[in-house]
Amino acid sequence: MTSAALLLLLGAVSQTCKKCGDHGAIDCRRHNKAELSLETGALYCTRMAGCAECNGARRIACDNCSAQAAAEASVDAESARVEAWRRTRGEIDAFMGRPLLHVESEHFRLVWELPEIQVGRRRLDQHEAAHLYLNRLEDLHALFRKTFAAEPQDIPAKCDLYIWKDRGDHERASLKYADQSGSGGVKLLGARPVYTFFRDRNRLPDDETVHRHVVHNVAHLLLSNAWLSNWIGKIKGGWADEGVGHYFEDLLFGQCTNYCYEEIDTSVSFKGGKWRPPVREMVVKERLTPFAELARKNSTNLTTQEHAQSWSLCEYLIGLDGAKFGALVRILQDKRPSSDALREVYGMTVVQFEEAWRKHVLATYPPR
Ligand SMILES: [Zn+2]
Ligand SMILES: [Zn+2]
Ligand SMILES: [Zn+2]
Ligand SMILES: [Zn+2]
Repeated sequence: MTSAALLLLLGAVSQTCKKCGDHGAIDCRRHNKAELSLETGALYCTRMAGCAECNGARRIACDNCSAQAAAEASVDAESARVEAWRRTRGEIDAFMGRPLLHVESEHFRLVWELPEIQVGRRRLDQHEAAHLYLNRLEDLHALFRKTFAAEPQDIPAKCDLYIWKDRGDHERASLKYADQSGSGGVKLLGARPVYTFFRDRNRLPDDETVHRHVVHNVAHLLLSNAWLSNWIGKIKGGWADEGVGHYFEDLLFGQCTNYCYEEIDTSVSFKGGKWRPPVREMVVKERLTPFAELARKNSTNLTTQEHAQSWSLCEYLIGLDGAKFGALVRILQDKRPSSDALREVYGMTVVQFEEAWRKHVLATYPPR
């Protein structure tokens, strides 16, 4: 047989469909490449779900080949899944009185109502920004798990986030979805974590400050949902609860600027948020809150200086062993004292802990 004849024979057997390349489906033509690439980190997005052509499946069954029946069934199943999701999110739209932008990933459900945000040299529109922040949330989730050697099942719940342009929307949503009102950010912590806030342009002037605000507060959500799903910030674990929020701010931005007070004071700050030199000075001048006293406080009772001290204590303990820090938090969630947790997990008495921490600060923090 000549090679030309062999090729003819193969062509007859494989019957390649020119329309779909035998995938059975083609990309929905209503979405360009850039738009589809935005969706890679998302399970659902209302912009996609609202498409009249594909009903959110992002694909159309090929009508040109033998794969058609199977492709139609799989595309229809996908549209049905998207439609069921859209109906549950539609309840929020009904309550808020307008269609909102919703995106959802493996670990987060996000309502994103900032119409645009400048990121570096680009001005992102609402849809682009929603996906950027959804991806950043997943990155934080992965970093959190890695830091504390937490297994996927250790953080059982999906977190709900609501990010608003207008204070009125935030106040309405916080009462409905976080069980309390507040003009500052409002969190629901523990088994069903929720965070809602509006972008106050004085406090959150740019992308970095918004991102850092999200990181601090989502770290609280994850810590409260992890392991025993009990928020330690209200059972005398304020130092570890706030310390972890600041730990991720410092790790990702080198700066801590978010405090969780009941009433947000716009002027709140401690040494510009760069805490190594001032904490070192506090140690040198012995201007510290004794750990025995600090470890009796809830998150909302910490002073700004105690926020910095708490951050540093956590930075030291997580640096020693992040998995052990997770075990320590679990003991606090079980409503046992910090001194027990330190002894059981790190093998240190409170006196030994304070001494070792001071040495760490003096050895590793710069004086200025
Ligand atoms: Zn085809
Ligand atoms: Zn989208
Ligand atoms: Zn479509
Ligand atoms: Zn906080």
